[in-house]
Amino acid sequence: MKVAVIGGGVVGLSATAALLRRGADVRCYEPGEPMGERSAGDTRIFRLAHIHPDMVVLADQSRALFGEWSERAGAALVDQVGTVVSGAEAGRWANAMAAAGAAHEMVEAGSPLLRLPARDFAGPALVDPAGGVIRVDRIRAFLVGEVGNRLRQARADALDETDSGVRVTAGTDSDTFDAAVICAGAGTSALAAGAGIETPSALEHHLRVSFPIRPDAPAPLQCWITEPADGLLGTYQHQAGPGSWAVGGDVDPALVTWAGGRQAAEQASLAAVTAHVAEHLPFVEPRPIGRVYCAHNPDLGDGLRFARRGRMLVTYGENLMKFAPLLGETLARAALDGSTPADAG
Ligand SMILES: Cc1cc2nc3c(=O)[nH]c(=O)nc-3n(C[C@H](O)[C@H](O)[C@H](O)COP(=O)(O)OP(=O)(O)OC[C@H]3O[C@@H](n4cnc5c(N)ncnc54)[C@H](O)[C@@H]3O)c2cc1C
Repeated sequence: MKVAVIGGGVVGLSATAALLRRGADVRCYEPGEPMGERSAGDTRIFRLAHIHPDMVVLADQSRALFGEWSERAGAALVDQVGTVVSGAEAGRWANAMAAAGAAHEMVEAGSPLLRLPARDFAGPALVDPAGGVIRVDRIRAFLVGEVGNRLRQARADALDETDSGVRVTAGTDSDTFDAAVICAGAGTSALAAGAGIETPSALEHHLRVSFPIRPDAPAPLQCWITEPADGLLGTYQHQAGPGSWAVGGDVDPALVTWAGGRQAAEQASLAAVTAHVAEHLPFVEPRPIGRVYCAHNPDLGDGLRFARRGRMLVTYGENLMKFAPLLGETLARAALDGSTPADAG
């Protein structure tokens, strides 16, 4: 089968690689750098911990596939330092872990099982020992190698279903495919709408900021999800390279609206996250040294979403990095057999 994959983020590259392994003739359309938009940056958090048991099970499947990728890449793609989820909701996450049969511990601040950049925090904490740091930099190199010359540097302007297949128009070029997968991140909703498939279109600005880790911090630090945190609705935090601690904060949504503009949103996020670091993280210097920005769809949460119209399959969601290997397999299978994967989360 001849398949078009629209978008060369981590999801599109993973789907392209999975389609190639199944013998398909694939072209992946990407106008910019591969993994240069929502998949940009060096690292992300992996966790089995989710609030729904079905997502815990899927994350476990994805972790096994990361292991297969690591073997083929010849390098660990997840540093298994563990992930901690703290706050009033931690018990609900633990229930989901228990229902899914996943190893976990519930502890309080001060537990010897914790290696965090803070000594104290609100609420109990769930320790997910299978969690850790996803090495995005390594995944980018691995996937770009896997897809090779199947990457076409072009923006897909429109997809149309015709009698002979899906016609993809990119500038003055057009070509027809037996199937198409749309996984274009922030570009998905416009492209899908043109093909008659409705997906969430609202966008919000989001910023993650990195800070130096002080030499006396525990090591290796665990990834950490906190909710809620003072002045922020929640944070996610993890090591982002040697000596660097990444903190993403959910700020008041009114400060990061699409209409308000990227610059104002970045400034508000930077100020809120830096103030949080200064007040709550004694093992981190409140001196910003790096940033990762993205335009994301608010309110989707941890979930995997799929829609199909004829031969066109669309996927969308948030926090998809941890599911990238699984999503690639799922999309490849569905593109080839014409099915629609079930939503999860
Ligand atoms: C700061 C930050 C922190 C995050 N933290 C985590 C985390 O800890 N754990 C986790 O699992 N996830 C996390 N995520 C989310 C995760 O990184 C994203 O969900 C994932 O990378 C999305 O990949 P994607 O391929 O769907 O989208 P993208 O990487 O955005 O790829 C889509 C691609 O489509 C291309 N495109 C758009 N329009 C078109 C078109 N018309 N034609 C062709 N191509 C097009 C774009 O150029 C883009 O490269 C985080 C994201 C950010 C930004």
